[in-house]
Amino acid sequence: MNEIASSLLKWHERIDRDLPWKTTVDPYFIWVSEIILQQTRVEQGTPYYHRFIEKFPTIYLLAEASQEEVYKVWEGLGYYSRARNMHAAAKQVVKEFNGAFPSSYDEIIKLKGIGPYTAAAISSFAFHEDKAVLDGNVFRVISRLYDEDALISEAKNRKLYQGYVDNLLPPGKSSAFNQAIMDFGALVCKPKNPECNSCSLSIHCEALASGKVHELPKKKKAKAKKHRYFYFLDLRPKGGAFPVMKRVDKDIWQGLFSFPFIDHAEPIEDISLERWQEETQLQVSEEPKLVWETTHILSHQLLHCFFYTAQENCIVDEPSSSYRNARYRWIEDASTVAWPVVISKYLNLKES
Ligand code: SF4
Repeated sequence: MNEIASSLLKWHERIDRDLPWKTTVDPYFIWVSEIILQQTRVEQGTPYYHRFIEKFPTIYLLAEASQEEVYKVWEGLGYYSRARNMHAAAKQVVKEFNGAFPSSYDEIIKLKGIGPYTAAAISSFAFHEDKAVLDGNVFRVISRLYDEDALISEAKNRKLYQGYVDNLLPPGKSSAFNQAIMDFGALVCKPKNPECNSCSLSIHCEALASGKVHELPKKKKAKAKKHRYFYFLDLRPKGGAFPVMKRVDKDIWQGLFSFPFIDHAEPIEDISLERWQEETQLQVSEEPKLVWETTHILSHQLLHCFFYTAQENCIVDEPSSSYRNARYRWIEDASTVAWPVVISKYLNLKES
């Protein structure tokens, strides 16, 4: 075994992180944890992992669930395409593999929403296949260990980095090695303030020798975020039904629910009653009042969100009499549908 892998494994034996999905070799549970942790910190993701496997303890139950049930469990975690793809992949496993999770990297990677990282993680952790993982933590460790400045944000460089980590992988020890190198990136070779002074790989680290630790890894500067302005209309009368809409377009929050809203690329100074009526197609009798505003950051967009509510005597279309607009669904309880994070925050605020 090479010295770097051997040092990593020894370091890992000493620190072993106690995370719930580390004690299982069930590919379904490993898959769920890996997808949740793709864009989520461990502390935030852990309760979601427990909730998800409690609600859908088997891949059959996930495949049979409705999309709304899956979204409800995922509510607040963001990046809903992950939940959508998992749901589709669960159906794929039931249909094509009779419910048995595929056991090789080449089959796993064909499932919806599973890329090289997740396929390597599942095939190594559950089936001990010799596949090395390459996630953000591993990119950073490799880039520094080898003083490699090829941009990690360029897809064409993935092969180069994968080559480095494949060379380090000790045959027959993929599960322990993969876990070790990812934990090492998360706990020692951190993005800011890496612990070089106590690092067990420091004698191998080329970036430490060249003084470039803090310049690596290199990635392209992120594009400026697009600004959008959302004006939500909360029409919840006390104890009655209120209109919500399911977002079906290929846009943010697809499949989630929203209050009626106006979406604009520029701020709107003053929203007239006519404009509310025209844009929401609801009969609102009094000018709604602004009750809360906030900004919400997504990966490529900056959302400026304004929440309006109408007076108690505001009249809106009733579902029975003038249900003019098919895009609305009338519900009585906000907790029965899944909302985007920013609306959940508003609802919590109103309840507190
Ligand atoms: S010496 Fe520093 S930069 Fe190099 S591997 Fe260790 S923690 Fe990372």
